[in-house]
Amino acid sequence: MKENPLRTSVIGSYPFPSWLEFASQHLEVFGRSDVAEIQNDAVVAAIHDQVDAGLDVITDGEQTRLDFNLSFYGYLEGLEFEGASPRRFGPPAHDQRGKHQITAELRAPRGLGVVDEFKRLQRLAPSGPTLKASVPGPYTLSGRLVPNARYPDRWAVAEALLPIVRKELEDLVAAGCREISVDEPSMSCYAYREDPKRFVDIFNRTVESVFGRTRLCTHLCFGNYKGRAIGLRRIAPMFPAFLDFKADEMHVEMASREFAEIELIAQIARRMDAAVGIIDVKSYYIETPEDVANRVRLCLKHAPAERLVFAPDCGLSQTARWAAQPKLRNMVAGVRQVRKELGG
Ligand SMILES: [Zn+2]
Repeated sequence: MKENPLRTSVIGSYPFPSWLEFASQHLEVFGRSDVAEIQNDAVVAAIHDQVDAGLDVITDGEQTRLDFNLSFYGYLEGLEFEGASPRRFGPPAHDQRGKHQITAELRAPRGLGVVDEFKRLQRLAPSGPTLKASVPGPYTLSGRLVPNARYPDRWAVAEALLPIVRKELEDLVAAGCREISVDEPSMSCYAYREDPKRFVDIFNRTVESVFGRTRLCTHLCFGNYKGRAIGLRRIAPMFPAFLDFKADEMHVEMASREFAEIELIAQIARRMDAAVGIIDVKSYYIETPEDVANRVRLCLKHAPAERLVFAPDCGLSQTARWAAQPKLRNMVAGVRQVRKELGG
């Protein structure tokens, strides 16, 4: 299913331009047409930077998920936005986001918004790069919803969200999406303390109707909200269970962990494509093309070129754009250097 060896890709998000950040905090002053224009312009900027870098796979940079109403939770019925975060001061981190109360049956009659995002990307992107859409999985989405009498625990909330996410994936495939990333950062962050087989069951039931009909990816994230990780940053507790994910590509963070457990990509490559994070999105050190080429050569000791994909460690939304731009350019340049050495 992969078009070329040593493929270059990205994880969904890209930094908001400064004006978009400002606009997202003042959306009430804009009209509906203004917001539509802002969203298009922001996606054009994200596409520009990714195409300029020369990537094989691009996304819309998640530039249009501007606020609560335009995020997944805004598409869900049966919720009341709590808003108040449990911690308002101190260092920025994930625990400063509020949770939402469930007030009725969870439904998403308009879908989750990803199909519209993908259609916008299709309309604005040049032909050439593969267009990827990213959808969070039901277990991750359940993390910010407070269980109640109807949905007594996090597992029950995840089960209620599962058919909603599956429908979005089916609609994406129907819209012509040839590459979808289903991301469950909560699974990779908490595999060390939960039963990883239970996670695999949820993941596989979420994707079962689209597996084989599109290229399915997943990113084993350790968390990057405000540039901070969550949980134990080890892949070993997820394996071998996670190798049973119904996926064509599994992405692992390596750069920020100084390539600890790199040998595990051999296990991934026996089952599916191994996507390796070779750019550190948390560091302002700009990797040179030579750094990247050396990292690619290290990966080639553990997996064949046909099975390897390279990307940053995570989405770039928490990295300043001035740094994200050369990081992506140098990543592609370094991978191309090794491709040339291999005669590709
Ligand atoms: Zn991530």
